[in-house]
Amino acid sequence: MMGLMQQHSLLISGLIEFAARFHGDTEIVSRRVEGDRHRSNWAQVRRRAMRLAHGLDAWGVERGERVATLAWNGYRHLELYYGVSGSGRVLHTVNPRLHPDQIAWIVNHAQDRVLAFDMSFAPIIQAVAPQCPGVRRWVALCDAEALPAELERAVPGLLSYEAWLAEQSDAPYAWPALDESEASSMCYTSGTTGNPKAVLYSHRSTVLHAMAAALPDVTGLSARDAVLPVVPMFHVNAWGVPYTAAMVGAKVVFPGPALDGASLFELMDQEDVSYSAGVPTVWLGLLARMQQEGRRPRSLARVLIGGSAAPMAMIQAFQDTWGVEVRHAWGMTEMSPLGTACAFKTKHASLDAQQRLQLQTSQGRPLYGVDMRIVDAAGAEVAWDGRSIGELQVRGPWVLADYYQSGQPSPLRDGWFPTGDVVSIDPDGYMRIVDRSKDVIKSGGEWISSIDIENVAMSHPAVAMAACVAVPHPKWDERPLLVVVRKPGAEVEARELLAFYEGKVAKWWIPDDVQFVEAIPLGATGKILKTRLREQLLELRTQA
Ligand code: ADP
Repeated sequence: MMGLMQQHSLLISGLIEFAARFHGDTEIVSRRVEGDRHRSNWAQVRRRAMRLAHGLDAWGVERGERVATLAWNGYRHLELYYGVSGSGRVLHTVNPRLHPDQIAWIVNHAQDRVLAFDMSFAPIIQAVAPQCPGVRRWVALCDAEALPAELERAVPGLLSYEAWLAEQSDAPYAWPALDESEASSMCYTSGTTGNPKAVLYSHRSTVLHAMAAALPDVTGLSARDAVLPVVPMFHVNAWGVPYTAAMVGAKVVFPGPALDGASLFELMDQEDVSYSAGVPTVWLGLLARMQQEGRRPRSLARVLIGGSAAPMAMIQAFQDTWGVEVRHAWGMTEMSPLGTACAFKTKHASLDAQQRLQLQTSQGRPLYGVDMRIVDAAGAEVAWDGRSIGELQVRGPWVLADYYQSGQPSPLRDGWFPTGDVVSIDPDGYMRIVDRSKDVIKSGGEWISSIDIENVAMSHPAVAMAACVAVPHPKWDERPLLVVVRKPGAEVEARELLAFYEGKVAKWWIPDDVQFVEAIPLGATGKILKTRLREQLLELRTQA
């Protein structure tokens, strides 16, 4: 027997309609590329997203065609999120930190028809435009007066976003009744594991992911929050914040390009930001600023740390020093991205402070909707005992089924997506990442977790950043080498750092050596680029 309830598609246009209707006057604040601070609200976002949709109609951009963005976090980018996807086109967010050749490759692969960009990326546009003949319109996210004549000459079909919107009708736009499984947006993986591959999200996957992300044990966002996504809107839809915020009616504060600790502190403080999300490298800057100020931004209550493992010292600094609750989370571009978040269960109330902290260094337990299993090299399932490790596989309504036009067979195995992460899971479902499979260190046939080694180093007061990589060893196959950037003015030698490990990890896990460097290479999404680091080390060692 079928249920007798109404059938409504889960669409992105429904999110902006809801936010504008019930939270219309809730603010959207943006620090702009122009340098000033701009104030909008959910009602205005809808209004301008509708104008944008009229504009795309006028240009004849078809349903399903791609509209790309090369932009920081800001209100215009948010309008594109809703105007493009809401009207049935596909929003393709391009990562501007990639090499221009890679950007051109991605734009051509996605067959983008329109590309909207922040003025800070004008040099990239000038470099890639001649290589992207399929792009019919280039839209500079600025006022008409701010458009340099030289750029207009160099890029055919260029116009200013504000001039374009001003020409459009203010009449309400009738959002199309799309099939909820139609594509809504796309994002290329950052290519740390080879060529970028396109993940194509649907309206349904996006809305369900936003709803799961809003749950209390995930972000717990509400209409009383002001959320600042540090995580870029060009990387996995800023972890869904633009959608979740609309769904709950939260205020959004966009940082634009200013992601240093001082700028973030000031914006959070003045806009009463209560919640923020970003990768560990960003939080290093903010924590340093909090130290200087001797306080936290006045309303900051919770932060989500993900993208790379949150070091224990970082969790401790936020919570114990500043009273800011940390939620450690894990995900992937292929998972929209959220898969797990680390929140306590009732039974954990009896743990002591150290045990609770230890649990928080795990990536947490699955969100409702995400199913997990761990398998060994032969594909057999591995026990959830908190010790046995294997590759994590996932499935669920916001997990990728196939890459867009990759020319390869679907990566799924029996319906499960292999994540490439090597993990253990405890009987309560808390998952702990040991490493990405390509980064694991195998010494004498046993795995050493580079993440654990890095965590210990990060808790040393003289260490600004640490990375652990495998180096070949004649007897043990591989041994861990610790690479360290010292804090400015701090002094520490290899011997002292290695001694610091005693009693903290198994003896045979202690790295064989420490290499001090000026900087550790970071990828386009702010994560340590271990492939590049290994190359650099090889160069260093062959020179020595
Ligand atoms: P890419 O795969 O292109 O680097 P993603 O942002 O999709 O870009 O990266 C996903 C990967 O990032 C995960 O598979 C995992 O290895 C790593 N990751 C994400 N969150 C965490 C976390 N909290 N702890 C450790 N690793 C993480």
